[in-house]
Amino acid sequence: MKLIFSIVLIFIFQCSSELISSDEIFIRLNQIGFQENETKTAVVLSKRNLNNKKFFIISVKNNSKVFEGKLEKSYSSYGKFNFTYQVDFSKFTTFGFYKLQLDNQFSSTFEIGNPSYDKITSTLLDFFKVQRCGYTSPILHKECHIADATSIILGDKVIDEKIDLTGGWHDAGDYIKFLNTTAFSTYMLIFAYEFDPVKFGFDNDSNGAPDILEEAKIGLDWLIRCNYQNKLLVTQVQDLRDHDVGWRMPENDTLRFDRPAFLGIGKNLIGIYVSALSIGARVWRDKFYMNNFSDLCLTTAENFYSIRNSVPDVDSSGTGAYLDKSFNGKLALAAIEMYKTTNRKIFLDQAKFYADKAGADYWWSYGDISSLAHYRLSQYDQKYADYLKISLEHYKLNYKKMLFGNGTPFIWGTNNTLLGIALKNILYKKLTNDFSYDTLAISQRDYVLGKNPWGICFIGGFGNRSASNFHHQFTKFKGKLPGGFAAGPVDKKIFSEYKIQIENSSYFVNFENENAVYYDDKNDYVTNEPTIIANATAIFVFGNSIIKN
Ligand SMILES: [Zn+2]
Repeated sequence: MKLIFSIVLIFIFQCSSELISSDEIFIRLNQIGFQENETKTAVVLSKRNLNNKKFFIISVKNNSKVFEGKLEKSYSSYGKFNFTYQVDFSKFTTFGFYKLQLDNQFSSTFEIGNPSYDKITSTLLDFFKVQRCGYTSPILHKECHIADATSIILGDKVIDEKIDLTGGWHDAGDYIKFLNTTAFSTYMLIFAYEFDPVKFGFDNDSNGAPDILEEAKIGLDWLIRCNYQNKLLVTQVQDLRDHDVGWRMPENDTLRFDRPAFLGIGKNLIGIYVSALSIGARVWRDKFYMNNFSDLCLTTAENFYSIRNSVPDVDSSGTGAYLDKSFNGKLALAAIEMYKTTNRKIFLDQAKFYADKAGADYWWSYGDISSLAHYRLSQYDQKYADYLKISLEHYKLNYKKMLFGNGTPFIWGTNNTLLGIALKNILYKKLTNDFSYDTLAISQRDYVLGKNPWGICFIGGFGNRSASNFHHQFTKFKGKLPGGFAAGPVDKKIFSEYKIQIENSSYFVNFENENAVYYDDKNDYVTNEPTIIANATAIFVFGNSIIKN
């Protein structure tokens, strides 16, 4: 994340814009599709008044009009557009492929019925194979960083010792590896499998093991290596020099024999680390009967959990990325996972203690995962589902005010957070059978898949127009990035602080406003960099939409 190449720091913002005719209408909707009974909506942007104008759903098969409706009053102005409309065609439920027509403009094609979320899910998982480091059979590149780590840093001291930190995943478009995001992603992959072993049991390489667990094992193996003498954790491998040496393939990294490891510890890191290792211990014991590996994971988890009261609340080692502010939610998750793996009641009591202290989350990211602990605990005490409800109510209040239905303002990595809302809805529904937040959740998914100002599907390779110019080394060298998922828009003021040189902004500036800017541009490490954490969230959300006959 925050890949800051020095070459992009000299900045001249391009103010030119691709001219839009005053007649042109832009129709924005989910470019993949809807299940038959879901809420189906689109947004229309226009410079002229379209009140009361008819719209049509057109069948792609025979060009016939199969549904019609009327635009109501303009919703509000947005950026350069004085007139905006929210279109609802939920009543139309016939299976097929369609476009929405307004005047002589057509939307992207979308499906009603069984949209192909299985392909999206497996492609999002392929991104992890691209991110693999060391001797882990990566795709699109050779084995890399096989000398990790070349030195160890503790505070302001360099320890003259070499430990094996090969493996794991590069975090984002750069080649740094982080404990925090690796543990989160590993946890989410295993959690997804436990949540629904059928939907997440796909085995595209036909080797008998679910692909999602094979990938999680890459994370677990690396996390085990991050244990430093049972008292500290390796929190990061490589420093910010990684961002200053330009684009290069990982096997040719000029810094490949100069990659320090940072040591640190904190209750926050113990929380997510123990969560990942204890769910791993359980699944590798119960599914794969790998007792030695399972015991190693559990012993390591138990040891770190036991020292939590003698370490700082939050770790501050490393170079300043992915710093947490809180730890209770993560310790709650660690404790409940330890309970599920060992059946020792003390862990359940401690999980409740930390989960109550954490309270509801109003965000979703690597550091805001209390909802996972609340979900787990609800299986033992239904009151913990209320925390999920409080969180969903908060997003519901937000999204109703937004033209495009986003549940949060755009800060950083917000596509991950939007899908986090959908994730919380999936958890909440499973606990309560209460479907009242479905429309909120669908709206977040639709935003990511094209119902946004730019009409762009943020997952590369899907939809009529998708993000493709990711801030990632492989976009640069290979011209492709399987499962690339853009970080998503940020507030204009936030973006301007980074002074990024955008190579071609002309299309994108037409559809921005003060609260949301986005560029499909390889220099843009703020809105267009993919990360393992966002993919881990997205895999869970889209995987749960897979329809199995
Ligand atoms: Zn590597």
